[in-house]
Amino acid sequence: MRQLPDPATLPPRVRTDVDFEKAGKQFGHMRVPRAHTHSGLGVIGIPIVAIKNGSGPTFLLTAGTHGDEYDGQVALLNLAREVDPARVQGRIIIIPSLDLPAVEVGHRLCPYDGKDLNRVFPGNRLGSFTEMLADYVTRALLPITDYNMDLHTGGTYHDTAFNTCSHFVDDPKQMKANIDLGVAWGAPYHAVLREIDHTNSFMTTADHLGVPALSCEFGGLSRIGNESLAEIERGVRNILKFHGVLDGKIEVPATPTKLVGVKDPTTALSFAPHGGLFHAFNKGGDWVEKGQEAGRIYDFHDPSRPPTVVRYSQSGCLWAVHTGPRVEAFDVLSIVMNEIDRAEIGI
Ligand SMILES: [Zn+2]
Repeated sequence: MRQLPDPATLPPRVRTDVDFEKAGKQFGHMRVPRAHTHSGLGVIGIPIVAIKNGSGPTFLLTAGTHGDEYDGQVALLNLAREVDPARVQGRIIIIPSLDLPAVEVGHRLCPYDGKDLNRVFPGNRLGSFTEMLADYVTRALLPITDYNMDLHTGGTYHDTAFNTCSHFVDDPKQMKANIDLGVAWGAPYHAVLREIDHTNSFMTTADHLGVPALSCEFGGLSRIGNESLAEIERGVRNILKFHGVLDGKIEVPATPTKLVGVKDPTTALSFAPHGGLFHAFNKGGDWVEKGQEAGRIYDFHDPSRPPTVVRYSQSGCLWAVHTGPRVEAFDVLSIVMNEIDRAEIGI
């Protein structure tokens, strides 16, 4: 019997009507297979914009990887409309709402397969909707990308400090390239992350492929913030200007970007000891003290039970806090970071 073909040798199943080699600005779609009741050959069209002129690096800019994170989507919708191709040297590929079905319902997870797009990378040609989409990003878009930025916020359930972020990686040169992207952005903080489990994330895949990759987290709380949106719009343009892809002057922030990271993973994170409603006392970006009350968890199954007090186990800047009150046991309630210097991480 013959063997089935190896999926890695076949092209991704997602197709696009955009020609990435063509000069000028194109508004098109990525067509992801999605059979439905009245069309076995149905597709979902996810908007993609390609802007190319002259010669220079390629930037891949994405937002809406989580459907309940809005500021990045609006920043990229504005950028796609406003950029004049004549002011570009290089190529900008913009996908404002990458997981479009999740964006349509305003949820973190894709409603078609119940998956988190940022947890299915590098994707699977033979997989579900989000897996096919991730496979296209990994095998069609990242190989033509010089710099990758995937924009996030804290979504419905978290509030974060205003920060750009990249991963701690083994190669110091690659780590420096990522941090330099963050410094060019000019956010109040750049976080160097050693995550609990980031095996299947978009940024990890870019790291593995050697593509300088930056993400960001700007607030959250289910809203588009005036300040967070302004910071994202300025930061994305700053990076494009820094690399000469967009003309114009970089807008330098009044305060230089602080480098932060988790100093001690055993004390930086606090976890919910049980489920319930968490009343968080702080917001992302607050500076907190060891022993200070982080909040209280109320048990809605037992009105006789006093709320459980949760305290911070170390002092520092609150990088993220679980502000959406509903929590399950073992959920991360807060992450506290500290300032780090370049020598500490070997760059
Ligand atoms: Zn996100």
